[in-house]
Amino acid sequence: MNNPFIELGIRHDIVNAISELGFENPTPIQEQSIPVLLTGSNDFVGLAQTGTGKTAAFGLPLLELLDFEENHPQALVLCPTRELCLQITNDINNYAKKMNNVHVVAVYGGASISDQLRQIRRGVQIVVATPGRMLDIINRKAIDFSQVKYVVLDEADEMLNMGFQEDIDNILSTTPDEKKTWLFSATMPAEVRRIAKKYMDNPFELTMGTKNTGNQNIEHEYYVVRARDKYAAFKRIVDNNPEIFGIVFCRTKIETQEIAEALIKDGYNADSLHGDLSQQQRDKVMKRYRERSLQLLIATDVAARGIDVNDVTHVINYSLPDEIENYTHRSGRTARAGKTGVSISIVNSKELGKIRQIERVIGKKFVKAEIPTGFDVCEKQLFALVHKVHNVEVNESQIEQYIPRIMDEFAELSKEEVIKRFASLEFNRFLEYYQNAPDLNAPADDFRSREGAQGDRFNRDGMRSEYTRLFINLGSVDEFSRGELLGYICNNAKISGRNVGKIDVKGVYSFFEVVNADVDNVMNNFKGIDFKGRPVRIEISGEGVSSNRGGGGGRREGGYQKREGGYRGDRREGGERREKSFAGAGANSNGGGFRDFSGKRREERPERRRRF
Ligand code: AMP
Repeated sequence: MNNPFIELGIRHDIVNAISELGFENPTPIQEQSIPVLLTGSNDFVGLAQTGTGKTAAFGLPLLELLDFEENHPQALVLCPTRELCLQITNDINNYAKKMNNVHVVAVYGGASISDQLRQIRRGVQIVVATPGRMLDIINRKAIDFSQVKYVVLDEADEMLNMGFQEDIDNILSTTPDEKKTWLFSATMPAEVRRIAKKYMDNPFELTMGTKNTGNQNIEHEYYVVRARDKYAAFKRIVDNNPEIFGIVFCRTKIETQEIAEALIKDGYNADSLHGDLSQQQRDKVMKRYRERSLQLLIATDVAARGIDVNDVTHVINYSLPDEIENYTHRSGRTARAGKTGVSISIVNSKELGKIRQIERVIGKKFVKAEIPTGFDVCEKQLFALVHKVHNVEVNESQIEQYIPRIMDEFAELSKEEVIKRFASLEFNRFLEYYQNAPDLNAPADDFRSREGAQGDRFNRDGMRSEYTRLFINLGSVDEFSRGELLGYICNNAKISGRNVGKIDVKGVYSFFEVVNADVDNVMNNFKGIDFKGRPVRIEISGEGVSSNRGGGGGRREGGYQKREGGYRGDRREGGERREKSFAGAGANSNGGGFRDFSGKRREERPERRRRF
């Protein structure tokens, strides 16, 4: 069978190069845009997130369409940041690895202009540029765009957010009228619509997913905590995800720095990325993050633009962004290249309205999650350690010499004893830290009046009174996330997701709320349902739940409830202390202007941006 890229019209030498990069099948955006762009006769608007494979979607057609025997600029790719500029240049060079005489130059601020001018003078066909430096070079009359056939505006919404509208106008005015313009954007606010209208003639429009909708592989969760508990809650979420590889977003540079410093002090593998760092410092942080020697990158919106790192497991909104569109950009840093990811927001009860607004814009519901108890975290960490020990690669030749001494040391202990002691090494540390850990979820009283104002009523347990809490004997050990459990419940119970409330996934079981009117449907439709050969059990939560459940889960829930009494009031995690120093910083916005990567402040803001 032919390679699917050949069937799309891509030639062999390019297909061979991308096969070496591991591209076996086109991504949806590549499948749909490549045949259109290869005609070379259309303007094009593609609504697509980063991470969907859009670089190849425009890069491969450019390599097909340009004449590489000619050494003058034929294509110009404009993008918002230096990082993205380098990434695109690198990607196109990789696709062209087996072609001759392909010259791509990266033009961006914060680096030597003379090197860039030298490369341009030597002859280039594809210029990939950030707008500020490009305009500088145009003003020096150092480049001739009179024979440009294709202009790509990548991450157009970001470029407008950063105030590049005027620069783009000036740059495009030096290119011929007959050129074709291909625009890619993650969101489609009115400003992007306007530039599409201005530069394009009846463009072919492609929407991956619904308009303004983020990547469907992202699960959106929010936690409601009191402001003073925010840092402690954040740490607990991180501890509850031992394999996290995340980007944490703050609103201000000060907050970014403070959080990173506090995390480092608390023994986490974290660092910050913000506009006050020199380019060299930024590169160093990004290199460590890319190589995974950093687990948590704490960043501002502006600094994180264009970050292109695969396998980010979590995006954490330590503070919600000022503009709703930025939420889409933030969350788009996870779930790249078909993977799944979680976007977490830690909010206080006053910010619930913002969550509802974001839900409306992205067209997806958030799942309300509970800050795990100290006990949950200890359990998670224990099993992470157990899996690590189980999967560790043993260096037989190196360890062999020590085995007799090790065996000697353990001679008196049974296998069970030895295992217990190894597991206790980490477990004890977490147990000690989380002993008397408080419940960090904001009490329902805090947000009752706010959510209640939107139609929900709460009973004495803080639960919406038209909902019933149910127990199900499936949980994270069955590899259910909240979103997956929601889908599983709705499919089997034949009820709408809108009628399911809070979902709390535990280890071997979970709880979920369902509107009272659907309780019978759930109970009846789950009768006789098996999960991997095990009967699925649903019960109404309450006294009956703990006595009926049996097994490890039942014992644990008992222990947990007992502890919870002890947790209240005793705040050991330092949440109060830290939050005090963050107050004030958090309330600040990004100062009314934007900085680009050269540190230049850009005061112009497109007037109509969606703010909370
Ligand atoms: P992009 O949206 O262009 O930044 O691409 C996101 C990631 O997906 C990059 O790491 C690409 O190398 C990768 N990628 C793009 N297209 C494909 C494909 N067809 N198959 C596998 N990986 C791809």
